[in-house]
Amino acid sequence: MRVYSIIGATRNIGKTRIIEQLIKEFKERGIPVTVIKHTEKDLDMEGKDTYRFMKTGAEKTIALTPNGATIFTREKSLEKVLEKYVEKRGIILVEGLKRSKYPKIVIVEVIDEIDKLKFEGKLLAIVVKNNLKKYAIRGKPIYRIDEIGKIADLIENTALKETLKCMGGLNCGLCGYKSCKDYAKAIIHGDDWEGKCKLKYRVKLEIDGREIQIKPYVEYVLFNIIDGYVKTLKGYTPKFKEVKVKIEDAEANT
Ligand code: SF4
Repeated sequence: MRVYSIIGATRNIGKTRIIEQLIKEFKERGIPVTVIKHTEKDLDMEGKDTYRFMKTGAEKTIALTPNGATIFTREKSLEKVLEKYVEKRGIILVEGLKRSKYPKIVIVEVIDEIDKLKFEGKLLAIVVKNNLKKYAIRGKPIYRIDEIGKIADLIENTALKETLKCMGGLNCGLCGYKSCKDYAKAIIHGDDWEGKCKLKYRVKLEIDGREIQIKPYVEYVLFNIIDGYVKTLKGYTPKFKEVKVKIEDAEANT
């Protein structure tokens, strides 16, 4: 998933403003944005029906209004919220949550603040509100707060690279797109969902140590036969890194 967190060195430094501008910019580019806002305050209000339903023990309550729906859930983990409620397409921006594992765009008044700021996850870029001309640190891009187009370019290009990493890289066309890049772009532009790459898992065939070249479609068929079988076995984990199947001549090894 393409999740990027916008955090600030201080409160009211402009996180919301930047996110608003990024939404506008991405909208013009045809990229749908989902925003997750971290807040300490509970949004459900005591006395409201939704509050009462949750208080009574509902797992989640959805308020439907003419302007949209609001979901109240007991889920507190960002990962779970992403997994359960966010579509696997477009770009996801998180406001706040310094401790999340996702790449960070950090807004600071002056660059020195970056060293005092404690956060987890990779630093993607720094956005500075004041003069930045003398700064170039950690080899990370530094932008002025009004350089929204450049910040959006960075996020879009990073999203494209990250999406491509989850694909087989063969440009085989089995997903219905001419190339992996076309499929990745379709996901980022919200025209398709993740998970259609037929060759996310690569199959390697060796006979007596000699690698045999197999076509993408054959890889796909072999993968499905092996995966279809091993997934019925005890000990199978869906997100495996490697499965080895070895065929040996029993006589040759005695
Ligand atoms: S199926 Fe996977 S490897 Fe083949 S073009 Fe699509 S994304 Fe690329």
